[in-house]
Amino acid sequence: MKKILGLVLAVIMMAACFAGCGSKNDDGGSAAGDGNSAEKEKLVMATNAEFPPYEYHEGGEVVGIDAEVAALIADELGMELEIVDVDFDTIVPGVSSGRYDIGMAGMTVTEERLESVNFTTSYATGIQSIIVTEDSPITSVDDLFGDGNYTIGVQTSTTGDIYSTEDIEDAGLGTVNRYNKGADAVQALLAGRIDCVIIDNEPAKAFVEANEGLKILDTEYAVEDYAICYAKDNEELGAKVNEALEKLIADGKVQEVIDKYINAD
Ligand code: GLN
Repeated sequence: MKKILGLVLAVIMMAACFAGCGSKNDDGGSAAGDGNSAEKEKLVMATNAEFPPYEYHEGGEVVGIDAEVAALIADELGMELEIVDVDFDTIVPGVSSGRYDIGMAGMTVTEERLESVNFTTSYATGIQSIIVTEDSPITSVDDLFGDGNYTIGVQTSTTGDIYSTEDIEDAGLGTVNRYNKGADAVQALLAGRIDCVIIDNEPAKAFVEANEGLKILDTEYAVEDYAICYAKDNEELGAKVNEALEKLIADGKVQEVIDKYINAD
């Protein structure tokens, strides 16, 4: 017992030194006060910060609904949040292999993704919307299934990509052009290289607001649920994250964050 205690003490002292020695303005005794984060377990969240208002860059930081909700979850769990900005199509593989603890990127729960990762309770709804130029001959979703043979822009591996590939390209009704970022698809639309962009409604609104000459069609392509993914073999962490998320939903905290970014006028 003594031995174990000694070992524990040694580890604590090492950790304290670590925290203290690492801080530039070490005043000699505040390791417990301001150096605590070094002892907190990390919660590594993978996202793709090209998806306003859920995640985007501001002042060198990743901000948005997901970043704030994840910070609240990390707080609940006494963990330190680390956000990693990666390509959208690497999030699910990276989470399932254990490189990241969670994936949070306005990510829709789909059957296919459920084969490699688990999802928490849903915390928001997404709608696949269609952006066109103001003078576009496309006036409703149905037009995409007509004989216009349109070229559709999407972000690679998103549900917009998955649905339009299956429903339109594979059916021989049109072509799908895939881009790394939704913003690149929007630029292609503005340049006349594609006929429309299928993307989630909130980023769609942000892109239409930021660029003249674009509009969102009234009809929607699909309605879906956003949730946080975690590795199938990490049910322990997943359950904790889910519990924290459900508490934050019940307390109205998640809605507060969403309102701050979406409904505030
Ligand atoms: N909701 C869409 C999906 O999960 C798009 C997400 C995104 O581009 N960040 O595929």
